[in-house]
Amino acid sequence: MEQIAYVNGSYVPLSEAKVSVLDRGFLFADGIYEVAAVLDGKLVDNASHLARLERSVGEIRLELPETIARIQEIQKELVARNNLVNGMVYLEVTRGADTGRDFAFPKSVRPTLVMFTAKKDIVGAPSAKTGINVITVPDIRWERRDIKSVALLAQVLAKQAAAEAGAGEAWMIQDGKVTEGGSSSAFILTQDDVIVTRQNGSEILPGCTRKAVVALAEERQLRVEERAFSIDEALAAKEAFITSATVFVQGVVAIDGKKVGSGKPGPLTDRLREIYVEFAKATAV
Ligand code: PLP
Repeated sequence: MEQIAYVNGSYVPLSEAKVSVLDRGFLFADGIYEVAAVLDGKLVDNASHLARLERSVGEIRLELPETIARIQEIQKELVARNNLVNGMVYLEVTRGADTGRDFAFPKSVRPTLVMFTAKKDIVGAPSAKTGINVITVPDIRWERRDIKSVALLAQVLAKQAAAEAGAGEAWMIQDGKVTEGGSSSAFILTQDDVIVTRQNGSEILPGCTRKAVVALAEERQLRVEERAFSIDEALAAKEAFITSATVFVQGVVAIDGKKVGSGKPGPLTDRLREIYVEFAKATAV
């Protein structure tokens, strides 16, 4: 059966889900997106994703065309219509389709809201067992990475370079320090058992999974430090891992071809992954 997408108030087959060529998301990347995982047919940590959506649209002065409560209803309706058990819901809101290509905000144009779903076995993903290799690339993005904007060209290039190198992610480097992954937050576990991840700020996206993992770790009296770290520090670490809505917690076993720790996902990474999966299942809506 064909997938169903949501476009501006209608549920339509994916092949018929279309927006205008004048849509500002298409012309200017003038839009915001969110991705929430689906486990057993339920949305994972969705309140956190919707809070970030509200913040992102606020930062670019874009008014949501629906309330947050209604957006969650649409997400759920789409999961149901697609019989989605495990995967993700993607949603995007743009400043709508104007009559021309003026840069300044259009007046009285309704924002575009689209959503679609995709299947993914996040819990059973083979890479969770094997871990992934990462490569490093310069971070060439704009200065407001805290906004989850659809302007993702730098990440497209970074992740293509990773794919060509047979790696699962690219860690972006600025001023000698890791900012984050192309589509994930970056963590290390130091030799003295401190979990380190870069502090939130305009240099990184405030990851929802990052936030949950930090809180879950702290609740268990694990030591967490939010600060920048270098690749040398990562290579000297016991473990490294990434977090995101669509991978949860995933071990990083090599950086630029050099082994991290034992060269396998470490025990803390495995433990945090289990803790996160438990949290995700227990709190999904
Ligand atoms: N950092 C970037 C640049 C991302 O694109 C993403 C997710 O797409 C993340 C971090 C992880 O965020 P989250 O855990 O909310 O998925």
